[in-house]
Amino acid sequence: MHELSIAVAVVEQVEEAVRDQGRAVASLTLRIGELAGVVPEALDFAFALATEGTVLAGARLLIDTVEGRGRCEGCGREAPTGMPPVLWCTGCGATLTLLGGRELEIVRVVLADGPPGAESAEDGPRPAVAGLPTRDEEAGHVPHR
Ligand SMILES: [Zn+2]
Repeated sequence: MHELSIAVAVVEQVEEAVRDQGRAVASLTLRIGELAGVVPEALDFAFALATEGTVLAGARLLIDTVEGRGRCEGCGREAPTGMPPVLWCTGCGATLTLLGGRELEIVRVVLADGPPGAESAEDGPRPAVAGLPTRDEEAGHVPHR
């Protein structure tokens, strides 16, 4: 369960990037390889915690999953590794070199039209930022592994 630390790191990077914009973040797209060891549901949950009280509060998290792929060192065949990954060629039995599937990167940040807290009511009512627990207090309830 390292999703919370990933979420916190992502939120920090995005906050840094949009600091001068004065606008809230509407959505964030992450590209995550299926071999990166990230559970999307857990990341979704951690993201909601990590964004509390930040310009990302209420932002939608979109996850672009990348399948694991490898190339055979013996016959050159390229194939998905599957999950859990099979790291040898099903044709000739030689070792596969991993081509992709361990990605973990921010690919897109979409800004909202207004400043934090001022955009759309379509996500439902949003509590005022003042008085919310800080991210750290909130994160403190979640056990780290
Ligand atoms: Zn092969």
